[in-house]
Amino acid sequence: MATASADGGSPVALVTGGGTGLGRAIAGALAADGYRLAIASRSEAHLADGAAELRRRGATVRTVPVDVRLPDQVDRMVAAVTAEYGRLDVLVNNAAGNFPIPAERLSPNGWRAVVGIVLDGTFFCSRAAFPLLRESPAPSIVNLVASYAWTAGPGTVHSAAAKAGVLALTRTLAVEWARFGIRVNAVAPGPVRTDGTDRQLWTSDAIVRAVSDDVPMGRFGTPEEIAESVRFLVSARASYITGQVLVVDGGQWLGKGALHLLDRAGPE
Ligand code: NAP
Repeated sequence: MATASADGGSPVALVTGGGTGLGRAIAGALAADGYRLAIASRSEAHLADGAAELRRRGATVRTVPVDVRLPDQVDRMVAAVTAEYGRLDVLVNNAAGNFPIPAERLSPNGWRAVVGIVLDGTFFCSRAAFPLLRESPAPSIVNLVASYAWTAGPGTVHSAAAKAGVLALTRTLAVEWARFGIRVNAVAPGPVRTDGTDRQLWTSDAIVRAVSDDVPMGRFGTPEEIAESVRFLVSARASYITGQVLVVDGGQWLGKGALHLLDRAGPE
């Protein structure tokens, strides 16, 4: 369960990209632990849909329109959280953009869009949230990354570079902000089907089969499995964990190399 403040108010979590996909599942898991929620992204429709579902499940939710690439909007997002709740205990930097494209065909604008959402957005949100977080009795940030930040992500040079930056940011802030009691960790989901990834990444049955076959556990993860890992990292059960990345991928990134190919071929 989350930590109540001295005045007994329940804690507050801000989830960027919280209206859809993994962000919505993460928001739901935190609400189940007693957090009041702010979910933030660009599309009013995404936010309204996400908030409606979360409220049906009993959550207290405030929606905040924001483009995390723009520091002024990010500051206004945090001001809206302050006005609504007067506190912030957990920030989940989940918003992202990604579209596979060979590096030589990626335009400067495409590069800037993805790096802007993922890397700039994570820094702008963390920076803006800091004054509220440092007042929390148990403050925590979780950043969503991806294992291609360290394995390579052919076709996603923009996203892989940005996620690698977020990993460095996670470790750096963990060390810098430990003195304020703020823990900063990352979760690296393996392949999970969401509306966003079905549209951009897992676009055919053949791709879905190939990706499942590539995971030692033989399947995609679920949004709930990713949400559980965030729930753990922000909880008191993880109170001495900071600067870490929790990989939740059915063993996917480890299952590489020639010997794995022999193993998959099975015994003679
Ligand atoms: P998704 O459904 O596409 O969600 C992305 C979210 O980011 C949307 O809610 C979108 O909302 C928001 N967003 C995009 N641009 C934004 C901007 N400029 N400002 C504010 N919000 C913005 O993706 P997902 O699959 O749930 O992924 C969630 C996170 O997990 C991402 O960080 C992703 O990289 C990571 N991840 C996912 C997988 C997977 O297989 N699903 C694997 C590895 C890592 P709006 O359109 O309303 O702005």
